[in-house]
Amino acid sequence: MLLTDARVVTPAGVLDDGWLRIVADRISGVGSGSPPRNAGERHELGGRWVVPGFIDLHVHGGGGHAILSADPAEILGAAAFHRRHGTTRILASIVSAPLGEMLRALSAVREAVAAGPTDDARVVGSHLEGPFLSPLRAGAHDPDHLRSPDLATFQRLLDAAGGTLRVITLAPELPGGLELVRHAVAAGVIVAVGHTDANHAQAAAAFDAGAELVTHLFNGMRPWHHREPGLVGAALARSGVVCELINDGIHLHDATARVAFHAAGAGRICLVTDAIATAGAGAGDFHLGSAEVRVRDGAVRLAGGETLAGSTLTMDAALRRAVLDLGVPMRAAVEASSTTPARVLGIGDRAGSLEPGRDADLVVLSDDLEVEAVMAGGAWTPSGRLVRR
Ligand SMILES: [Zn+2]
Repeated sequence: MLLTDARVVTPAGVLDDGWLRIVADRISGVGSGSPPRNAGERHELGGRWVVPGFIDLHVHGGGGHAILSADPAEILGAAAFHRRHGTTRILASIVSAPLGEMLRALSAVREAVAAGPTDDARVVGSHLEGPFLSPLRAGAHDPDHLRSPDLATFQRLLDAAGGTLRVITLAPELPGGLELVRHAVAAGVIVAVGHTDANHAQAAAAFDAGAELVTHLFNGMRPWHHREPGLVGAALARSGVVCELINDGIHLHDATARVAFHAAGAGRICLVTDAIATAGAGAGDFHLGSAEVRVRDGAVRLAGGETLAGSTLTMDAALRRAVLDLGVPMRAAVEASSTTPARVLGIGDRAGSLEPGRDADLVVLSDDLEVEAVMAGGAWTPSGRLVRR
């Protein structure tokens, strides 16, 4: 298959008048100018953007489907909702809940991963957001379900995931926190620092111990202070540490998000959604585990308060805001939505960029960066057939 007359976003830059050749499920060539002859089925894209499929490291649900339901079909349903918004791979995120519920959710994610890439969903693994979080920075996590770090509980969670636990968010300043960081890293799990009251020294100690990610930078942690820069300063100042950003215009002021892009660069930023099941459902009042939430103007808050409880964001909107509202160049925005998260997951040689040999996972975007079609593994996503104007 050949896609032509496109603005193809590659790691080297944007190829105007670009083309992309796909053989089976892989990208076999990328270039600009005259495309190869006899390359099979041909789609002329009329100058539309082609970007790599988005990879979202932080998803609690979407389209009415909740990861915590512990039902593999629901988990794949959430992934399918996000697929329609250009996300070709997700990590399924599990909030703090009674331990039994978290264990069941982990094994359901394991089944969803084992289902492999389906027609419209691909779940890479799980992200445990809890239960070893600080009650001082719990956000929407139910404080009753938070625990002090302990290796035995971690081992039970790890076993339930059966090799599919990819990321754990924890608060390293809690007693036993650093030991858990080292233990999780040794078990091959990426440690993200988040929902934490860590000061600068405690955050730096967590990075020294092997933590390499920050869960939704700025949210669920101490604010930046110029003499005590906390986790925010420790993360932004340290090369090698990657920061999630919820770029929905609600969790962060645009100036804050811009500062993060300037300080860390797109190679150390992962745009994430932190989306909950109500993403895609519009305004209303919903149950979220044991909590009641209120969705108004795209913001999700715990009922009766101002605490944000996840988002209704999708990755296409996060990318659009980065480019149109923050002024991030397209190539850098794509790096933060696809390339960096692929690298974090250790799959940068297969996904996250439009280069020969990578999986043919891509999104066709209009001039105003709306999703027009999504391809994963060389096949158009059924609900997102290429739209011709
Ligand atoms: Zn969170």
